[in-house]
Amino acid sequence: MWYFSDEEKELQRLCRDFAEKEIAPFAEKHDTEESFNLAAFKKMGELGILGITADPEYGGAGMGCVAATIVMEEFGKACPGLTLSYLAHSILAVNNIQNNASVEQKQKYLPKLISGEHIGCMGMSEPEYGSDAIGMQTQAKQNGDDYILNGTKMWITNAAYADIAYVYARTGKEKKNLSTFILEKEKNHFTTGNPIHKMGMRSSPTGELIFEDVNVAAEHRVGEEGSSVSHMMANLDIERITIAGISLGVAQACLDHSVKYAGERKQFGKAIGQFQMIQRMIAEMATKTSMMRNTLYNIAYQYDQGERDSIHAAIAKLGIPQMATEVALDAIQVHGGYGYSREFPVERLMRDNKLNEIGAGTNEVMVLIIAKNLLGKFKQ
Ligand SMILES: Cc1cc2nc3c(=O)[nH]c(=O)nc-3n(C[C@H](O)[C@H](O)[C@H](O)COP(=O)(O)OP(=O)(O)OC[C@H]3O[C@@H](n4cnc5c(N)ncnc54)[C@H](O)[C@@H]3O)c2cc1C
Repeated sequence: MWYFSDEEKELQRLCRDFAEKEIAPFAEKHDTEESFNLAAFKKMGELGILGITADPEYGGAGMGCVAATIVMEEFGKACPGLTLSYLAHSILAVNNIQNNASVEQKQKYLPKLISGEHIGCMGMSEPEYGSDAIGMQTQAKQNGDDYILNGTKMWITNAAYADIAYVYARTGKEKKNLSTFILEKEKNHFTTGNPIHKMGMRSSPTGELIFEDVNVAAEHRVGEEGSSVSHMMANLDIERITIAGISLGVAQACLDHSVKYAGERKQFGKAIGQFQMIQRMIAEMATKTSMMRNTLYNIAYQYDQGERDSIHAAIAKLGIPQMATEVALDAIQVHGGYGYSREFPVERLMRDNKLNEIGAGTNEVMVLIIAKNLLGKFKQ
């Protein structure tokens, strides 16, 4: 994009190169085996991107939402599953700690998370509370200076691999009385359930975090007791923009695979790219991908300039993953029977992308946010 800084252009080049060498060759294997590319994840620490938005004094790259979106796009082209795990670590755990934790907590947790020695996750969703996240029932009851945690978090990306969990829990009866705790696996603050088997994002481990009468010292609490709803919502904005970056990567990859295939595959003695109906699909895929790119980076750029309106994040999150699913379905159509098989990556990209219409807030929840922002002002 014309407004990428030199540093962002260099990041794009590094991530594209890393994705080609360390991620793409293993994506199919990890999807089939439902396994995690731990080796590539650890190397992301050496690449310097695990704390993309964190301060350099803790080892972070000190960059912004545009930079994080660039990483998501480049990695998303190769393996959306591993990219989702990267997002859970760098945006849901690291970025949250960077923005909300005390200096002591940042000094304690960020360097190891950013070097890749530790893996992070974030626990908000529960078995009975997904879209209605603020209704969560995990309890943190005060016990002298400590807290006792009870409850279960569901659908947690990286759960089984996480050393550190950034977890929200109820600390009072009022609906918005939620607090945050940084929990450590080493201190037995949490256990994890069985892995959850999924249709897509199979190379991203998903599981439960389980708390049964867990004693947690008050020094693990982030910020004031009962003050977490505002920071939870604020982090969702950057999560929604950057997860849309994975979908942009999916769309670009689907377009690239389709253009190549349309030039190579022959039917009726001609390359299928010479048939107008194939040309139409490819032209529309290119148009959608270009519109997605321009909208997304514009919203990410505005975010970095301090224009952090939830409606923009919701627009990116509603529009881009849906369009990427349309592009991926067309890519399967262009590939015919081979597109429906595992011979080509387009079916994996489509399965992976569907999650982006659900995770970080469903399409329907995005509609609610956008409509409330626009129509709420006309309330009597
Ligand atoms: C692979 C994966 C990874 C995830 N990673 C994480 C993670 O790391 N951390 C974390 O905390 N969570 C994570 N999640 C959870 C994710 O954010 C939730 O799945 C999502 O918010 C939806 O919640 P739900 O699944 O309970 O669906 P529900 O909320 O039960 O929704 C079911 C359906 O009802 C619709 N619906 C709900 N409320 C309304 C309404 N008011 N109006 C109209 N329609 C409505 C929804 O749009 C949806 O279509 C992950 C989920 C998946 C699948």
